[in-house]
Amino acid sequence: EMIVVGSVNADLVIRVDRRPMPGETVIGSDLATYPGGKGANQAVAAARLGARVALLGRVGSDGNGEFLRKALSGDGVDLDRLTDTPGPSGVAVITVGADGDNSIIVSPGVNARLSEDDIAAAADLLASARVVSLQLESPLATVVAAARTAARVVFNLSPPAAVPDELLAVCDPLVVNEHEAALLLGGPGEPEQQARALLALGPRSAVLTLGADGAVVAEPGTVTAVPSPRVEAVDTTGAGDAFTGALAWRLARGDGLADATAFAVRVGAASVRAPGAQSSYPYPEDLEGL
Ligand code: ADP
Repeated sequence: EMIVVGSVNADLVIRVDRRPMPGETVIGSDLATYPGGKGANQAVAAARLGARVALLGRVGSDGNGEFLRKALSGDGVDLDRLTDTPGPSGVAVITVGADGDNSIIVSPGVNARLSEDDIAAAADLLASARVVSLQLESPLATVVAAARTAARVVFNLSPPAAVPDELLAVCDPLVVNEHEAALLLGGPGEPEQQARALLALGPRSAVLTLGADGAVVAEPGTVTAVPSPRVEAVDTTGAGDAFTGALAWRLARGDGLADATAFAVRVGAASVRAPGAQSSYPYPEDLEGL
């Protein structure tokens, strides 16, 4: 049904009352280690909802590699294209603040070795999938090569970076949050205006996610606001990945973009009610009442 090309990381999470200033030390919670990485998160979000999803990526030869592979296979993600690579697995060092907000440092490890050759080796598979979902925790040249091969590209431009027009042009949709949109567009703005401006960058469609406020969908000729269900946010880590994985799956199933987004905001909202990224991702029954 769908293929995710992307990163696999171990998320090392510490909760803090406030973050340290340079030169300062603060005491945080016990360390919690969760499976994460934008690519893996999207794949797990989709798999838990019932998708047939394969993950094309790399894990390292360290203990984290084994931990990450086990977590993914436990969630039913197809790992035929997940390669064991000598070197450290990707890691994200995450602090979660009192409001459930997060700050993240990513160490790519072997995610940086995902190559254009890996894409070429999987070209048939990528071309036959209904949707290929991409993010930017993998090398840009690899992401561009995957986009060239795919029938339909869902692209989460995160973490934000300059990308070639060729890549933007095939996104259907381009998915970004408010922070990423402001960087891409040169400043903040009113959400529907920002969504229109994203579409003007050249993708076939654009989705701007707005945290607790849901999302805005921009397609040629129409802009649609999609509110999010109200929930108590405990930890927003990976909400955008849950959203995008769910969105990509519904698009692969044939939904229109507005309908797929209306589903994805429920998945995103469900994912902020518990700690961690994948550990908080919903099964279909968890969406009842949202
Ligand atoms: P990111 O995680 O990339 O920063 P957002 O914060 O925009 O992205 O969240 C993505 C989606 O997750 C939102 O569109 C929404 O559906 C859901 N979401 C995130 N935070 C909340 C929240 N506090 N309450 C309800 N839903 C949320």
